[in-house]
Amino acid sequence: MPSVLVWLRNDLRLEDNPALYHAARTGLPLIPLYILEDISRAHWPPGSAGRVWLHHSLNSLQQQFRCKGSRLLLRIGNPLDIIRSLLEETGATSVYWNRRYEPVQVKIDQALKTALCEAGYTAESFPGNLLREPHEIANKQGNPYKVFTPFWKAYQAMGDPVTPLPAPKKLAAPKSWPGSTSTSLNELGLLPAVRWDKSIHDTWQAGSVGAEAMFKSFLKRIDDYDEDRNFPHRDGVSRMSPYLHFGEISARMIWHGVLQRESREGRMTPSARVMNYLRQLVWREFAHHLLFHFPHSSDKPLRPEFAAFPWRTGRQQLYAWQHGLTGYPIVDAGMRELWHSGWMHNRVRMIVASFLVKDLLIHWREGAKWFWDTLVDADLANNTLGWQWVAGSGADAAPYFRIFNPVTQSEKFDADGNYIRRWVPELSALDNQWIHKPWQAPAVLLQAAGITLGREYPRPIIDHAVARQRALAALKSMNDAR
Ligand SMILES: Cc1cc2nc3c(=O)[nH]c(=O)nc-3n(C[C@H](O)[C@H](O)[C@H](O)COP(=O)(O)OP(=O)(O)OC[C@H]3O[C@@H](n4cnc5c(N)ncnc54)[C@H](O)[C@@H]3O)c2cc1C
Repeated sequence: MPSVLVWLRNDLRLEDNPALYHAARTGLPLIPLYILEDISRAHWPPGSAGRVWLHHSLNSLQQQFRCKGSRLLLRIGNPLDIIRSLLEETGATSVYWNRRYEPVQVKIDQALKTALCEAGYTAESFPGNLLREPHEIANKQGNPYKVFTPFWKAYQAMGDPVTPLPAPKKLAAPKSWPGSTSTSLNELGLLPAVRWDKSIHDTWQAGSVGAEAMFKSFLKRIDDYDEDRNFPHRDGVSRMSPYLHFGEISARMIWHGVLQRESREGRMTPSARVMNYLRQLVWREFAHHLLFHFPHSSDKPLRPEFAAFPWRTGRQQLYAWQHGLTGYPIVDAGMRELWHSGWMHNRVRMIVASFLVKDLLIHWREGAKWFWDTLVDADLANNTLGWQWVAGSGADAAPYFRIFNPVTQSEKFDADGNYIRRWVPELSALDNQWIHKPWQAPAVLLQAAGITLGREYPRPIIDHAVARQRALAALKSMNDAR
């Protein structure tokens, strides 16, 4: 009997999942499938933290399918080979999926669509992962946007995105499930051999149930978002990024969830403060728009002159940065938060990234690679935008000469030192005046706090004032060479 294969990828949810919804509406038996794709290192396969998240997310989705009398098949390998053999084995006649937009994924999906159509199968794809598709939006000249503000204005002018679809009520199961090559979740090998992932598991609940709980709790605080979002110790941001990356909740569900909340508060249009949250969601859209139209940007600077920037290698300094041992407490707190929880607050992402590319003059790609491996929300579009923005090489980037001072940033955004105290406990007995710059603290206070610099906590690996001058000189040398 004909049936429909539903290929799930970065849309690990039942609600607002157009491919699943439309497949269910055919009334035919459905065969949901996830493939751990076999792609080369050059194409940014999921990093270690992302793989841990994926394991738990698939586990949760398998349970959801089981509750609906269905299953989620798992496979590893080349999508075309796997889908072809499943079509033959099951007699399915069509394949449905939601579109994705990273350059290598676009190529895989296009080739697959062509091959399936040529072989006489139906391949249907749907928009489900962004508020709008990257090709739906262009400037007056018909070109992609490179600057955020006009992009955001254009988004607002287009009105609200379409409303989310409900989860299908019924998922018809095939008479018999393909079993010849079944793969178990553990066989995907997503969890590390040495189990370092406990702290990630303790911090997060992957899957759409976790996404919904996190979103509900954020909606209670959303009125304070605008004020609190820059302070890493406050519970100010939504932490929806890993859920959005894996598609355990859709951006449209968040958008409309926020609007519904506003209307419950008696507002026909969202307040300016709440609008600022929706604006962040559109940064995510902008990142996907840029990567879709400039596919080289995950590896090369968007502003070509930065190809000649005199980066340094600094292996030891890179190691110190990665492991939270730079001697700058706010940088170390951020890198340790990342290592422990797989996530870092946006303000601190900017501070640590600036420290790497400007104070240490280490290539942004090294930072992007480390984030890629350690973030549970590692996302090629957002990570590329973030790093190119900080490095000054992006289309709409912070100018290179604007160099974050890690001490003043720390004093401003973590004035009472609570974020530092949480993640760098060896400094916790220092008072607020010195916790941001322990190397300047009087010896007697350091001693009273139980700290000997270079023993309990490192001395700064570089003098920021000197580093700043060196970075400006590097920029000048790049500009002079043009
Ligand atoms: C160097 C650097 C690297 C980054 N790498 C990633 C990454 O790999 N994955 C990732 O999701 N985000 C990345 N970001 C963007 C941002 O830091 C995170 O999206 C945000 O901190 C996630 O926390 P949240 O969900 O609480 O954000 P909120 O402030 O609650 O925002 C809600 C959502 O809006 C989107 N968003 C917010 N800010 C941005 C932004 N600047 N760019 C794109 N989307 C945004 C995210 O999807 C986020 O979940 C990076 C930023 C920098 C500076």
